[in-house]
Amino acid sequence: MKKKMLQFVDLNQETPVKRSTVKRKKDFNEIYNEFVTEKAKEQSSRCSQCGVPFCQIHCPLSNNIPDWLKLTAEGRLKEAYEISQSTNNMPEVCGRICPQDRLCEGNCVIEQSGHGTVTIGSVEKYINDTAWEKGWVKPIKVKKELKQSIGIIGAGPAGMACAEELRKSGYQVTIYDRYDRPGGLLIYGIPNFKLEKFVVERRTKLLKDSGIKFVQNFEVGKNDTLYGLKKKHDAVLIATGVYKAREIDIEGHSLKNIFPAMDFLTASNRKGLGDKVQLFDDGTLNAEGKDVVVIGGGDTAMDCVRTSIRQKAKSVKCLYRRDRENMPGSAREVGNAIEEGVEFVWLTSPKRFIGNSKVEEVEVLKMKLGDPDSSGRRRPEIQSGSEYKIKADLVIKSLGFDPENLPKLFNAEELVISKWGTIKIDLKTMQTNLDGVFAAGDIVRGASLVVWAIRDGRDAAVQIEKYLQSKENKSVKAA
Ligand SMILES: Cc1cc2nc3c(=O)[nH]c(=O)nc-3n(C[C@H](O)[C@H](O)[C@H](O)COP(=O)(O)OP(=O)(O)OC[C@H]3O[C@@H](n4cnc5c(N)ncnc54)[C@H](O)[C@@H]3O)c2cc1C
Ligand code: SF4
Repeated sequence: MKKKMLQFVDLNQETPVKRSTVKRKKDFNEIYNEFVTEKAKEQSSRCSQCGVPFCQIHCPLSNNIPDWLKLTAEGRLKEAYEISQSTNNMPEVCGRICPQDRLCEGNCVIEQSGHGTVTIGSVEKYINDTAWEKGWVKPIKVKKELKQSIGIIGAGPAGMACAEELRKSGYQVTIYDRYDRPGGLLIYGIPNFKLEKFVVERRTKLLKDSGIKFVQNFEVGKNDTLYGLKKKHDAVLIATGVYKAREIDIEGHSLKNIFPAMDFLTASNRKGLGDKVQLFDDGTLNAEGKDVVVIGGGDTAMDCVRTSIRQKAKSVKCLYRRDRENMPGSAREVGNAIEEGVEFVWLTSPKRFIGNSKVEEVEVLKMKLGDPDSSGRRRPEIQSGSEYKIKADLVIKSLGFDPENLPKLFNAEELVISKWGTIKIDLKTMQTNLDGVFAAGDIVRGASLVVWAIRDGRDAAVQIEKYLQSKENKSVKAA
């Protein structure tokens, strides 16, 4: 019988074909075509089935990658799906948008040996998209309904993963979210060309069909307090993400047409979902025909530049104070942006915004790289006398996010936070300093990744269940 695995010597690495840049710039659809079945099988068979799988170690969910690759290579897709979904609540999302070059694929042994990594993310997407198509993904059928209830604040990946895990055990789960749609940044942050919205919406529907209750347009701090929710539920999870945009405090920062990234991306995502968006419809948040300057070098900046290209901007420049090697964003996304016509202005930092009421130019400074800082990346230093001006009629600031002041917002001043404003938890129990109140996702880690939010949501579910069981045991003993 022909050997199924370890084909990496004979078979070259192939990723799913990308749509041509001409085509993909015309729409907001995802840029990769589907793997055809034979290709997925073939690419999976390149896996070397390592005894110690570094891909799995470097996947935040410890996905059992070698096993589902082998099953895919053997054409046993339903089993591959069962294994894949057992450790991941949104495998088709992670397959699409994890920065695999930094996680599983970056640590694949055959990548290290120069043969090119197994295309793990694409296979994960293929397995799970097939599962949805074939109807293998089914709502949870609870074996025994339990009385205890959990209130989850935030319908992003952390909140949704936690909700699903607790519902599997039979708990009554309600998710509260201040937005009109569930999904968190998956719905209003990340653009369609990375993650089409139907992928998120079918997950949400699955959770609703599983008996999880969603309460939208419900802002904790406005519609109820944290203590109010605590009274209604036996445990509460805070999974509110981080949304406070970092500012650039330079001359001209209050000129018109300078926006935080999330304003720009949310408007674009809402238009894609068919909403009426006043500031987009009147042209303010629409990049069409404009010279756009995006400031920042992370994944959010990449999403802004690529959205501007699709909105038919006249020119799109990305200013970043370090060089390409020292960018925090995914190398894959930088490559996609360059292909699509974004101009990167490396080693450049804004000095001031110039204009009469509206921004017209950005004066910038050239930088050079000095010694590494605490993050290990080389520190940018100003080159004096290097100023020059760049034309701009729309500036998008993408310098990262900080947490909002939750103790104040939630009317719970006692809630302990870190010096960065993230919620402090006991890392073992995931509980905050308030009894029965847990926290997970970006609001604990700071701005991070979907896969880490899912991991946190799953861990929080285990800890909440332990907490509820001990509470139940105590009340039985006391009775
Ligand atoms: C533009 C952009 C692109 C990104 N691209 C990627 C990517 O390609 N790959 C990747 O892995 N990660 C990416 N990320 C990061 C990823 O989206 C986040 O790490 C992840 O969504 C965090 O999940 P979360 O559940 O903690 O929070 P969120 O997804 O932010 O969800 C939090 C939810 O809480 C709700 N909420 C907040 N406050 C309240 C309140 N007071 N009351 C009620 N509800 C509230 C919000 O409305 C939101 O729905 C990106 C982030 C951004 C901004
Ligand atoms: S979840 Fe992310 S890191 Fe883990 S296997 Fe999938 S793509 Fe790789």
